[in-house]
Amino acid sequence: MQAKIVTLPGDGIGPEIVAQAVRVLRHVASTYGHTFTFEEAMIGGCAIDAVGNPLPDSTLATCATADAVLLGAVGGPKWSDPTAPVRPEQGLLKLRQHFDLFANLRPVKSYPALAKHAPLRADLLEGVDILFVRELTGDVYFGPRTEQGDGDRAWDTMIYTVEEVRRVARVAFEAARRRSGRLVSVDKANVLASMRLWRRTVNEVAKEYPDVKLEHVLVDACAMYLMRYPAQYDVVLAGNLFGDILTDEASVLAGSLGMLPSASLNNGTFGVYEPIHGSAPDIAGKGIANPIATILSAAMLLRHSLKLEQEAQAIEQAVDTVLLSGARTADIADPGSPSLGTVEFTDQVIAHVRPGVRV
Ligand code: NAD
Repeated sequence: MQAKIVTLPGDGIGPEIVAQAVRVLRHVASTYGHTFTFEEAMIGGCAIDAVGNPLPDSTLATCATADAVLLGAVGGPKWSDPTAPVRPEQGLLKLRQHFDLFANLRPVKSYPALAKHAPLRADLLEGVDILFVRELTGDVYFGPRTEQGDGDRAWDTMIYTVEEVRRVARVAFEAARRRSGRLVSVDKANVLASMRLWRRTVNEVAKEYPDVKLEHVLVDACAMYLMRYPAQYDVVLAGNLFGDILTDEASVLAGSLGMLPSASLNNGTFGVYEPIHGSAPDIAGKGIANPIATILSAAMLLRHSLKLEQEAQAIEQAVDTVLLSGARTADIADPGSPSLGTVEFTDQVIAHVRPGVRV
């Protein structure tokens, strides 16, 4: 197949890790007979420096010509003044809003080989394989921006419409149907009106999916269960705020931030794919960043935007194989053990991406 992929490397380690994911995608294209074309555009701090805008119109126009976008990370100390009129993160929010990327998929998997890097007991981590579906364009982050304070008081508005809940719930039910047939919906329906609307709407959507077993869990209980019984979860649906917090909490289950990919999707096949970690300014330019989260984001891009399931699995399988072989980047290496740089680790992944992997 032919596809156009726009890359937005961004700041810090962004360019280093995106370059490696692109190498993997080029290798997949040549191995499986596809033609992928790549075009790069600016986002984040580097775009502020160049044109004073974290998401220039030219970047939006370039993304609009793409089948999918692969993003690195934005931000860094140079642009971290919270009172600055333009900040790198504004570029991310604008990108999500512009393309109506309302469904954020975040798979969290435990790797037995890395269990000692996670703060939980190894036996609790066995078999952890969760897909979080987080609503991304509503909730308290997008409540009315007028009159949010009067001096001694400040407020934000948690707000959801039935349609916003319905469309993201369908994404979660579809995912649950493809996976274990189980879905947990997270809310705070005992206290918040917007969350009662959330629960009511999820229950309505559930009628379209009689084959999926739906359970509702209050967010505070979910935060606790995720640490006590993480392996019991399969697909977890949450609003923007609760999903933000729970996915960061769950990220510790994987052993390192450098392992976790994400996809942000709209109603069609277009999506923005990015690691969940930031621009890691402390290690930028050193060639030691872990490229796995970005490489696995590229695999999600193949799966969700290009519908290339076998190729996606080939990448995921290659990452598993390389980790099982003992290869490590610095963030997941045992203290005192040797580690590979970003490029060398990717070389190993590329060497293991082969057609005909077990699917
Ligand atoms: P961070 O995720 O960048 O880094 C946290 C720690 O994890 C650091 O020690 C870093 O070295 C390490 N780390 C992260 N990714 C790694 C990788 N791939 N390989 C090895 N180690 C890795 O979070 P932070 O330090 O809080 O934020 C740094 C900057 O990134 C800030 O400007 C923040 O606003 C921005 N940020 C951007 C995004 C995004 O672009 N989506 C997300 C989070 C933070």
